[in-house]
Parts: sequence; structure tokens; C-alpha cells
Amino acid sequence: MEEKINERLFLIGILSMILTAALTLTVFHKTFDKQVKGDIRLTAKTLAAGYNSLQEYSGLQAYCGNGIRITLVAPDGSVLFESDTDLSKMENHGNRDEIVQARATGVGETMRKSNTLGYNTYYYAILMEDGNVLRVAMEVAGMYSDYNQAMPAVVAIGLMIMVMSVILSQVLTKSLVGPIEAMAENIEDIDKDVPYKELEPFALAVKEHQVKKAESAKMRQEFTANVSHELKTPLTSITGYAEMIENGMVQDGDIKVFAGKIHCEAGRLIGLIGDIRKLSGLDEPNPCESFEKVDLYKIAVNTADMLHLKAENCKVDISVGGNGGVIMGNKMMLEELVYNLCDNAIRYNKEGGRVRTEVNTRDTKVVLTVIDNGIGISKEHQERIFERFYRVDRSRSKETGGTGLGLAIVKHIALHHNGKIYVDSQKDKGTQMRVVFENTGDLNEC
Ligand code: ADP
Repeated sequence: MEEKINERLFLIGILSMILTAALTLTVFHKTFDKQVKGDIRLTAKTLAAGYNSLQEYSGLQAYCGNGIRITLVAPDGSVLFESDTDLSKMENHGNRDEIVQARATGVGETMRKSNTLGYNTYYYAILMEDGNVLRVAMEVAGMYSDYNQAMPAVVAIGLMIMVMSVILSQVLTKSLVGPIEAMAENIEDIDKDVPYKELEPFALAVKEHQVKKAESAKMRQEFTANVSHELKTPLTSITGYAEMIENGMVQDGDIKVFAGKIHCEAGRLIGLIGDIRKLSGLDEPNPCESFEKVDLYKIAVNTADMLHLKAENCKVDISVGGNGGVIMGNKMMLEELVYNLCDNAIRYNKEGGRVRTEVNTRDTKVVLTVIDNGIGISKEHQERIFERFYRVDRSRSKETGGTGLGLAIVKHIALHHNGKIYVDSQKDKGTQMRVVFENTGDLNEC
């Protein structure tokens, strides 16, 4: 970037120098030209004024010098006087442009190569009263000698400006880029002391990205720590039971009991791994490929059937109601969502309790509600129960086969379907979990 800015600044400097020099020289040249020609005309007019008082034509010689050449041409074109050349060498001048013009209009002027001297020359001619034409000429090289003398100085100044452009563009680039480099070096505090107003959104975006990255790293670390901890507990139990059997510390009759315990802990591990996979998105198919019309009421009925036995064991009654609802979604995920909510409503219930699942369509919304009159959740826990591994009562969760991930999965699936979850719960009275799906048909286009 530094190189590019440097290059461009230098280029701007050089271009403006060239442009300024070219324009100035053009204007200067025009003015100079006008002035020199004006001087030549004035000389010619002054000479013309004194012409009548001349005793003989050779008196004109006194007016020459400084590159001024004087010629007097008779009406027949023969040259009567010539200041710079031998008269005998002068051919007839009757058809020279300036002479022809002067005869016709009184004055004539032209710029051309002199036939006599061979240089580019400016001629100004005036018709005298006696019919002769007085012509004053000056070589172009002579005319512009002052102008040409100034050229080396112009080139020298140009070179100086060029050198200054190089130095200045480097200094300017450094002062422009320096603060940005300082910003990059202090990337942790990129949003502090932003050198340019225009860079503020960029600095804020970088900071935001940093914060998000840090948060996500922290969450991942916490999750890994939690997972290790959760895996360790059943594994420790399994190792303990197996060790006892191995060392002959378990009586033959109890081996079956211990095998059952190992089986149960292993089952817990499998469940945990299954939940972790669901949360990590490992088991999620591409949402666009698997979104279809899903009848939530049907899912609620199937789930109630599936959990019927569990509910019966817990002496809880489970039922389904509502006017039904169909949404676009992933069937397997939605089955998981309904299952987890109903399962919780049974597990955190009381003997003789009730679980009611309702699916209702209201305008563009489909609402799934799972209501129980179980143990309820106090206010301070309500906000945290969707966090991974958060449990209100750890032992109750474990006793009933919980992994602490059920509601985290519910939240994940709801978000995936643009759904919102609401908890309404009172300790010892019961809980109502509501998932509201916005069924606008947008998902159809997925
Ligand atoms: P778990 O596997 O422990 O059930 P969840 O993520 O499903 O994990 O739920 C988190 C915690 O929220 C549970 O441990 C429980 O304390 C509380 N909870 C969830 N659902 C209910 C409910 N219907 N009634 C009372 N408490 C509940």
C-alpha cells in the first residue's frame, strides 16, 4: 500500500509539474511573440515616419542592429536597399507575400523561411507614399533568443520539482501510512485512537470480530471442559464396577446387578454422545435439502405414544390437543424438539401429574405448547436452563437419565426453524414451554 500511495503521489506531483510548465510556457510564448512582433512593427512604423527625411536609402542602415534587417523594395520589385545582403545578390521581391499585401492594403506581414538568408523570419512591410515598400524583418531564432535562454532554467526548475516530489511523496506517504501501521501493531486495542474517521467502522468491525472470536473460544473451552467432566463420571463408575468384579469383590449373585449398573452408565454415555453430536450439528443434514412440510400435531401424538410407558411409570398422564399446525422444517429435528420438551415435562413432574401438548395455528404462527403441573422452575433458573449442561437439580436430572443438553438442543432446533421459545413456570406449580414458529412460507423458498 505504501508503495502504491508513494507512486501515485509522485505521479500527481510530476504530472502537475509538467502540466503547469507546458501551460506557462505556452502563455509565455504567446505573450513574448506578441511583444516581439509588436516591437518589429513599431520599428517599421518609426522608420516609415522618418523615411521622407532620408537623403538617400543607405541612411536606413543606421536603424539596423539587434537582429533587425531592413529592405526597401521599389514598385517594380527591385530591391533599392538591403541592410544584411549585398544588393547585387538580391532577386526581384515583387511577389513576396508581405510586399504583395503591403501594396494591396498598406501593410503586410508574414512568417516564412527567407529565400535570401534561409532562416525562419518574421517580415513586416509598409507601403510608402512614393510607391516603395519598406520592409523590416527579424529572424525567428533572434526573436526568441531570450525565450530560448530561459529554457535551461525551466528544465532545471522542473528537475528540482521532480526531486522534491520524490522526497515529499515519501514523507507524505509515511505520515499517511504510519498511523495505520501503528494501528495494525496494536491490534488488540484497534478501536482506540483510530487515526482516521473513515477507518472507525473498520476498526469497530475488527474489534467486534475479535470479541466474538474470544467469546466463541471461551464457550468452546467451557463446553469441552463440561463434556470431559460429564464423560468422566459414568466412565469412573464403569471402571469401578468392572474393577470390583475383576478383583473378585463381587459375589456371584451380585454380578448381574453390577452388569446392570455398567449397562446403565454405558447407556448414559451413549445418550450423552448422541446429544453432543446433535448440538455440534454433526447429525444435521443440509437444511435446504431436508426441509419439508411437517405436521407438528402428528409429531406430538407420536411422541405421546412413545413416552406413554415412561409417563405411566412416573404416574403421569400425557395428552395431546389443539387445532393442529403444519410448518416447513426438518422432521427429525422437530421430533427431537417435541420429545425433549415432553420428556422433561414427565421427568420433572410429580406423581399423579399431567402433561399436555398442544399444537395450534394462529394467523401465520404455529404454536407448540407443552404444559405440566410438575415441580416448576424458579425465576433465577429460568433464564439459564437453555445453557449446555445447566441443571437446576443435578441429581434429579441424572437419576432420570438427563444429560443437561436437552433444552440446549431444543433451543438450537427452534433457532434453526426461526422459532422463539418462551418459558412460563412457577416453582411447585408447573411449567409451560411455548415454541412459536413463524410460518410465513419463506422456508418454502429455501
Ligand atoms: P436435563 O437433561 O437435565 O433434563 P435439560 O436441558 O433438558 O437437561 O433441562 C435443563 C434443566 O432444566 C433440567 O435439569 C431441569 O432442572 C430444568 N427443567 C427442564 N424442563 C423442566 C420442566 N418441565 N419442569 C421443571 N424443570 C425443568
